[in-house]
Amino acid sequence: MIIFIFIVIVIALICALAYYISQLDLYKSYDSYRAGEMEKLRAELDVEHTINTETLQKLNKIAYTNPITKIGNMDYFLDAATKQFSENPNEVFTLIAFNIQNLDKFSHLFGPTEGDNVVLHAAHTLRDIGQKTRQVFAHVYSNLFCMIVKGQDKELVLEQVEVLTQQLQSYSENFTLLPTFGIYYIKDRHQPLLDMINSCMLAQRFVKNPQACNYVIYSEELESNFRQNKRMSQEMEDALEQHKFLMYLQPIVDLRTFRITSAEALVRWDYPGKGILSPYAFIPLFENTNLVQKLDYYMWEECLKALRRWIDNKIEPTPIAMNISPIHFQNTKFIDHLDYLCDHYLIDKKMLILELPERGISDGDEQTKKIIQQLKKHGYILCIDNYGSMNSPLNLLHDYPIDRIKIDRSFFNKNSDSEEGMSILRYLVAMAKEVGLTVITEGVETLKQTNLLGEIGSDMAQGYFFSKPVDVREFDSLNHSMVKRVYQSNEYYPTFEDLEKDLDLIAFMLDQA
Ligand code: C2E
Ligand code: MG
Repeated sequence: MIIFIFIVIVIALICALAYYISQLDLYKSYDSYRAGEMEKLRAELDVEHTINTETLQKLNKIAYTNPITKIGNMDYFLDAATKQFSENPNEVFTLIAFNIQNLDKFSHLFGPTEGDNVVLHAAHTLRDIGQKTRQVFAHVYSNLFCMIVKGQDKELVLEQVEVLTQQLQSYSENFTLLPTFGIYYIKDRHQPLLDMINSCMLAQRFVKNPQACNYVIYSEELESNFRQNKRMSQEMEDALEQHKFLMYLQPIVDLRTFRITSAEALVRWDYPGKGILSPYAFIPLFENTNLVQKLDYYMWEECLKALRRWIDNKIEPTPIAMNISPIHFQNTKFIDHLDYLCDHYLIDKKMLILELPERGISDGDEQTKKIIQQLKKHGYILCIDNYGSMNSPLNLLHDYPIDRIKIDRSFFNKNSDSEEGMSILRYLVAMAKEVGLTVITEGVETLKQTNLLGEIGSDMAQGYFFSKPVDVREFDSLNHSMVKRVYQSNEYYPTFEDLEKDLDLIAFMLDQA
């Protein structure tokens, strides 16, 4: 029995040994298999690795380059700027962002391909300057370029802006490109770069008149202004829905008959808790944010509704002069809207006078000319508003198919007090009449001014002397009583000399009253 047990143990040991030895082999072959596979894999990986590097380079290029201008894009800018910051820990930097403000107008005028060429020109200009000065620059998106400038010396930064402006504007002699810049002094380089770019763009939005000054430096005050503006925009949207914008009418009086010949529609905001707000408090803000487009559409419709009400109530309608913000001049969409309103309310276009502010048309570019020609073709009466406020060339008067000019209130006031000024006014009125225009003078506050205007040949006048802007109900009662109002004006205490001078006028007024 003992021998049997011994034999079994020996056999078991032999078997275990044999299994161990066989497993050793297996491990060996597995190892060598693994090694071989790994070798192959490594070889494959190597191959893939070389493909990847090339692809990666290509991918990087695609990922980091703007496809149109072939300079760095936003991703590139973020990486390159971060690298520049970390490599220069003791340096301070300034971020500059710019776009071509009137690129749309340019593209509209010369076609989209030419517009693309301007973008290319901007990118190449930036590249040339950026490479020369070893600065990080990029074409971050469609019409926005960024650059990081070493240092925060205002003079040097503005020098850079000036150089860029000059080179950008050298692109076209017939059309003045308007690059506008936002400048941001980087205080905390760990702040997300996207926030810095946004701050720069915010500053850039505050550029009001790029021909006079085409940059704005970011400040916290600007940011709080912006927030306030944003809140106001929201309020404006609500107010539009709730009909809180009111149309006031200010009479425009014929200086020969002292009768109301037309009225200017002027917006007022019935602001909860603050009363009636003047447009000076909100129009400039709305013009910055394009809200003025909505407001104008609303006001134009109010004008057409008023005309329709007069006609429906058998009241003789008074032609209404409507303000057209320069913002509409970017394309012809607003003409379609005006046509639609006239069709919808069945109003003859001759009942409308479109007031085009001088500041919107004084640059005399082709696009503006085309739009004005189109408005004329569509049958509207056209008036240059605030004439004299921009020192625009006199040939504006016959270059455009306009019907009237309205002499600006401040221009009139500045000149009506001196002999020299009166000569300027007299010359301007004569010039306008020479080319067949009707002349209206705005801001007439006294009878003396009224008489002066009659003397120099202004056809019509508008001003507090006749009436402040009033709501439609009051305007209706005012209408046709203007002669009486002029005659009864408390401001008029004629001397004998005056009487002699104004004899004709007074006789006429008494006759009419
Ligand atoms: P504007 O088109 O030049 O309008 C004339 C402004 O002069 C009006 O100011 C009017 O009330 C004021 N005014 C008229 N006569 C006298 C006067 O004898 N003395 C004085 N001190 N002022 C006089 P208002 O109504 O405050 O409008 C200011 C400007 O706001 C307008 O200037 C116009 O540019 C803009 N505006 C008003 N309503 C609208 C609108 O519906 N759309 C657009 N886009 N702009 C508007
Ligand atoms: Mg006006």
